[in-house]
Amino acid sequence: SKFLIASTSEIYGDPEVNPQNEEYWGNVNPTGFRSVYDESKRFAEAITMAYHRKHNIDIRIARIFNTYGPRMRLDDGRALPNFMMQALKGEPLTVYGDGSQTRSFCYVDDLIEGIIRLYKSGINEPVNLGNPDEVSILNFAREILDITDSDSGIEFKPLPEDDPKVRRPDITKAKKLLNWEPEVSREEGLKLVLEYFRNEISRNSN
Ligand code: UDP
Repeated sequence: SKFLIASTSEIYGDPEVNPQNEEYWGNVNPTGFRSVYDESKRFAEAITMAYHRKHNIDIRIARIFNTYGPRMRLDDGRALPNFMMQALKGEPLTVYGDGSQTRSFCYVDDLIEGIIRLYKSGINEPVNLGNPDEVSILNFAREILDITDSDSGIEFKPLPEDDPKVRRPDITKAKKLLNWEPEVSREEGLKLVLEYFRNEISRNSN
């Protein structure tokens, strides 16, 4: 059997290089607020590689960057569900810090295609999967205001500790080895996921 682990861009921590390719070892605070997640995922990669080397297990390591789509949780505190819910309810969008930190959001269908291609491949090493289209969080909030046609404003709140300042996948490896790259633009993806949030709000209010 093959063993595929859903790893994460968090293994790169608060990266000192941008974009991040698979050769970069990361910059993680081992005792910081995000460290239990970051370090456990790093350990998961380490033990997966060890089992591959020692016991010849046929492994895959998908390093998944920020992903969104229908059926994501409404209240897990991430930027996209927070902004969508706030915009649709007419509440101010809570941007942490000055909003200059960046992320790169991948639509779920693209990610799944990447995972399936990785699974079917014979690649026994980490592969980044994500959308390289990088945006600042402030501009992302503005895009959501625009797409929802909302007149909610923006409210700035303190930046959480160890919040990565930049994040963007280098997907050269996935392009070359899996012949994969995302096809859904952020504009298209946000429109698709907006439908889901609208439906959830009307379902919950009935
Ligand atoms: N963020 C924000 N307002 C929110 C939720 C998140 O400004 O209401 C910021 C957060 O500080 C981070 C970015 O948006 O810089 C992405 O946060 P998220 O939790 O979605 O993902 P992650 O930090 O794990 O990439």
